[in-house]
Amino acid sequence: MTDTIIPSDAGPLVNVLALRSAGFAGQILTPEDANAYDAARAVFNGMFDRRPAAIARATTAADVVAALAFAQAHRHPIAILAGGHSVAGYSTIDEGLLIDLRPMKGIEIDPVGRRARVQAGVTWGEFDAAAQQHGLATTGGRMTTTGVAGFTLGSGSGWLERLHGLAADNLLSARVVTGDGRVLTASETEHPELFWGLRGGGGNFGVVTEFEFRLHAVGPTVFGGMVMYPRDRAPEVCRHFRDFMRDAPREIAAGLIFMHAPPAPFVPPELRGRPAVAILGAHWGSVDDGARVLAPLHEFGAPPVDVMGPIPYVELQAITDPGNPPGRRNYWRSELLSDLTDDAVDAFIACAASATSPASVMIMAPGGGAVADVPEDATALSGRSATWFYHCYGIWTDPAEDEQHIGWVRASEQALRPWTMTGMALNFMSDIDDTRIRHTFGAAKYERLVALKDEYDPGNLFRRNQNIRPSAAK
Ligand SMILES: Cc1cc2nc3c(=O)[nH]c(=O)nc-3n(C[C@H](O)[C@H](O)[C@H](O)COP(=O)(O)OP(=O)(O)OC[C@H]3O[C@@H](n4cnc5c(N)ncnc54)[C@H](O)[C@@H]3O)c2cc1C
Repeated sequence: MTDTIIPSDAGPLVNVLALRSAGFAGQILTPEDANAYDAARAVFNGMFDRRPAAIARATTAADVVAALAFAQAHRHPIAILAGGHSVAGYSTIDEGLLIDLRPMKGIEIDPVGRRARVQAGVTWGEFDAAAQQHGLATTGGRMTTTGVAGFTLGSGSGWLERLHGLAADNLLSARVVTGDGRVLTASETEHPELFWGLRGGGGNFGVVTEFEFRLHAVGPTVFGGMVMYPRDRAPEVCRHFRDFMRDAPREIAAGLIFMHAPPAPFVPPELRGRPAVAILGAHWGSVDDGARVLAPLHEFGAPPVDVMGPIPYVELQAITDPGNPPGRRNYWRSELLSDLTDDAVDAFIACAASATSPASVMIMAPGGGAVADVPEDATALSGRSATWFYHCYGIWTDPAEDEQHIGWVRASEQALRPWTMTGMALNFMSDIDDTRIRHTFGAAKYERLVALKDEYDPGNLFRRNQNIRPSAAK
């Protein structure tokens, strides 16, 4: 930590003493802090190697209030970092002040009331570990390192969603620091309009320092895991998966993943490193019920890779971690689908076959269930009637190859366009323009979000997000 005025070779100076005087008590890192600064500014997507003038590592809501006041007084642009998983690079910035919430790690589980209070720096791995000590969970990320904060504010799609809804649907209240320094609680009864907007409107209205969630009984051991086939079996595997999931009970979570088989001991040598298609599935009842109900997926076509069976919920939540290390280059698209016809399945298989990087992945998963139970107007999120959604992840390491891999993602998006419908996929999008944001929310919700923005952030201080532009900016 440095307590002097630091000239940043990246841009304007950040007056560290003035940040302290504003009441910021947490650690402050500048480029002078070499290794610690570099570690703190690194985000998941290796395409964003940005150099903030300073990183203010908040430990309390008071730190957030102080950092926001300081940034506004000194006209520093800001970025807010929680889990650092924004694939669009929103949570980092060149030259401005990065407010890093990761030191805010508080977690309180109320096992009787089945509620959790978590601070903004908590990841889903940390959340699940704490809640599972009581056999409880809420819908969380499909990777342990994703932040609770950005995930929930943008929707929060996870394996539990068909039974328990999105993370945003399980949010009971949020503590929010607004740009003018107010600390508010938003819930169905306090600032309900703000609460409506926080569930899908991202970080547009302030910094959420604490989230309160509803919890559900899950596990601790469930039946789940993965089966995998060589890619040439994709047509039959996809159709079987689609037909099974169409009528599957909401206690079943599942997704179809097009990937290259990892060089893991459980993969036969002839499949390692080869194009494959996998089904990842779980059941939220007893292990015996899960084995029985999942049998049609588990046993279909004698899969050459079968790692499905009793598994602790926390291990299931971490199952895709090893295949997704941080630091690689990522360019993503995701869309909701109104139906998964045979033509759509074939188009999806063709897109996966034309992937330009072996690290790239395509995922198809069913919507519906508890997500569709929530009325369309209850939150800012749109598209709850979608029956399927897909993700197309371009992933590679060499910057010289950017164009070809980005081109593949964009071409796949176009190829699948006939079956897509608009709605809540913004959390998974790499570059999102104003038109796409308006279209995703729909005109009526967008206007409602603009009214909230005008009330809570008329100067657009919080703009490194899926930005709702205030009226004054139009
Ligand atoms: C590897 C990987 C796996 C993923 N898996 C899933 C998944 O299973 N399901 C899913 O729905 N999404 C998933 N996502 C997408 C993810 O939900 C979004 O990228 C989300 O925004 C990440 O939240 P974060 O806190 O980690 O990110 P950050 O990059 O820290 O923040 C993301 C955005 O939220 C804002 N923000 C963060 N914290 C706050 C706060 N406390 N108050 C106000 N604004 C804030 C940031 O400014 C930024 O605009 C995944 C992303 C990655 C990279």
